[in-house]
Amino acid sequence: MKKSSLKINQIYRGVINGYSSQFYGVTRLDGEVIFIPGALTGEEIEFKIVKIMKNAAAGELIKIIQPSPERREPDCPYFKQCGGCDCRHMSYHEELRAKRQRVQDALCHIGGVNINNINNNINVEMITPDLNIRPVYYRNKAQFPVSANGIVGFYRAGSHEVIPVKSCLLLQNPANQIAQAVQDWMTRYKISGYDEHTGKGLIRHIYIRVNHKNNCLCAIVANGKKLPREAELVGMIRAAAPETVGVVLNINTRRDNVILGEKYKLIWGKDYLIDQLCDLKFQLSVPSFYQINREQAERIYKQALVYANPTGQENALDLYCGIGTITLHMARYVRNITGVEIIPQAVRDAEANAARNSIANITFFHGDASEIAARLAQTGSRPDFIITDTPRKGLTIEVIQAIANMNPERVIYISCDPGTLGRDVGRFAEYHYYISQASAADMFPGTRHVESVVLLTRETRE
Ligand code: SAH
Repeated sequence: MKKSSLKINQIYRGVINGYSSQFYGVTRLDGEVIFIPGALTGEEIEFKIVKIMKNAAAGELIKIIQPSPERREPDCPYFKQCGGCDCRHMSYHEELRAKRQRVQDALCHIGGVNINNINNNINVEMITPDLNIRPVYYRNKAQFPVSANGIVGFYRAGSHEVIPVKSCLLLQNPANQIAQAVQDWMTRYKISGYDEHTGKGLIRHIYIRVNHKNNCLCAIVANGKKLPREAELVGMIRAAAPETVGVVLNINTRRDNVILGEKYKLIWGKDYLIDQLCDLKFQLSVPSFYQINREQAERIYKQALVYANPTGQENALDLYCGIGTITLHMARYVRNITGVEIIPQAVRDAEANAARNSIANITFFHGDASEIAARLAQTGSRPDFIITDTPRKGLTIEVIQAIANMNPERVIYISCDPGTLGRDVGRFAEYHYYISQASAADMFPGTRHVESVVLLTRETRE
């Protein structure tokens, strides 16, 4: 390893020429890469080196010599401390440009193998409701951590320190109101917050789901089997958010960072929420995955349908199907479709959702996508197209192999991580599946995260 020529605490000058995946400004000095939070592409700045890592260094922005025309005053007072948003200091236009570039780079560079040679016109299309105004209040799920001293808020960036946040620009509004009501209940009745160092104290997280009509389902995640002052809690939540349909206790007595425990107890109302997506009704229970931006989810599902381009005769497979959102949406356009999902509650929700929407040409399998895809391939299943909407870590080599063995004409890959998407696109190329179209959807405006939908097509040999 080359020894860094940079010195800790020394001030340097540089021009930012791109962003890291965390939206830190990136500059290079003598071939060394430096990440500088808060700096924008094109800006000339002064920065101080605060840390030297193995392959890069971290800098602190000291002075902006030449600001970018895309720089904006952050519209949230918590922006600097809170770890939730990453781009409120730039225009929405700049945020979208950088996100699109990130997906484009991931597909062309990380995925590497031949993609550029085989198809050099991949032009990532951006899916967003508006190219100029950053959407706010779009998130339908909130998870507020609670500190040992009873503060409800959000974690400071890169830490577990809870900073009090009275209102968040990302959340559909009843979520902010419910968090405040639970905070008031804790203060009024001296209810303790959980201390992750000692494992003592009661309330760990406040988890809220909101539907398109602003109905809410609230789960109080607690280190105990029951809550004191339950009636008062329900009363205060309902007074703050009258559209609330249910309050549940989630029991989590574990000593790790996983938010939800396995057991639930209904305190009041219902233990699930119904939401409408692509003209279908979906039942969501607390642990089931559901896209957090409903409006954008509809857009990516529609994009997936365009890429699938079904005639009505197809057999399709939806890997990582969750509560069956894509499966049900697609079912209306194909002969039949199979969904695969690992969380048992989600599979139960998926089956209930198919029945609720009177959709019968659908089968769900509960289990690991690698195992089920391999079994389906072995038993001769030959879907015309396969949709795969993976978790962040992407696909295992076994899933890619099983998909290739099923020999579909098209694979529609939906991903929330451009890095693993790029890697997997490279692996698909080894099986002669190549990207023919790609879109990036701004599912998480204001944050570093970006969703992609790509179409991989089987190469047809002459
Ligand atoms: N397509 C759904 C869900 C996508 S999220 C939607 O759009 O709503 C990814 C889903 O994969 C989650 O529901 C998660 O529980 C599931 N999952 C994670 N690992 C899995 C695995 N190894 N096998 C099958 N499903 C898995």
